Amino acid sequence: MGKPIDVISLYPKDMNIYGDTGNVLTVQRRLALYGYEPRVHAVNQNDPWPEHADIILGGGGQDTGQKKIIEDLFRRADLLHRLADAGVPMLMICGLYQLFGEYFDTIDGTKLEGISVFKAYTVGRDVRMIGNLVESSDEFGDIIGYENHSGQTFLREGARPLGRVAADGCGNNGQDHTEGARAHNVIGTYMHGSLLPKNPAIADFLIRAGVERRYGGFEDLGDEAARRERAHIDGLAARA
Ligand code: GLN
Repeated sequence: MGKPIDVISLYPKDMNIYGDTGNVLTVQRRLALYGYEPRVHAVNQNDPWPEHADIILGGGGQDTGQKKIIEDLFRRADLLHRLADAGVPMLMICGLYQLFGEYFDTIDGTKLEGISVFKAYTVGRDVRMIGNLVESSDEFGDIIGYENHSGQTFLREGARPLGRVAADGCGNNGQDHTEGARAHNVIGTYMHGSLLPKNPAIADFLIRAGVERRYGGFEDLGDEAARRERAHIDGLAARA
């Protein structure tokens, strides 16, 4: 057996739309191809937190899903902050990205307080931002995906976006061309798609950061067949 890496899938019951499970599957498969042993833990409301958390992945959800998980998220806020400060890689898509900000004022007038990992806030509007999304980032090159949200997110002064919207899409708010947010090794983004199968560079960033934290360094422990499979997958992603 390879060296274990514990992957947390956060709120898969209520926060998991437009194929976001693909992010968990991608990290799981890629870890195995690098020769590590992925252990995926689904953490829904009131579930115990696993002993190890090397990579944390959260999906999107409609406003109703966000309301269902918000109390539980708040109970775990201190823990998630500690892990973020300690460099644990996390990927939060759309609905959870919004709740990792300061607050989300929903279209029906409810204010959902966020856990403020990102210096950003979100306001619901009656126009949904739907469609393909392409952005460029210094860290990951071009990033491609699909967005569908009514919340418009605004980054506070000094907060770092994930990328800048290129030709297609609205991004955080349809106005300032920013998309997503970055803090420590935490990525927030509106990119569904799923994101990671189409953007292996981001999958590798999460995997490397998680493995380095746990084992003090990253090594490709996979065999030749695994390298061939990864090259094949990356070729498909490049054509997506
Ligand atoms: N409920 C949020 C919005 O519509 C998030 C939707 C999503 O995760 N796709 O803004």
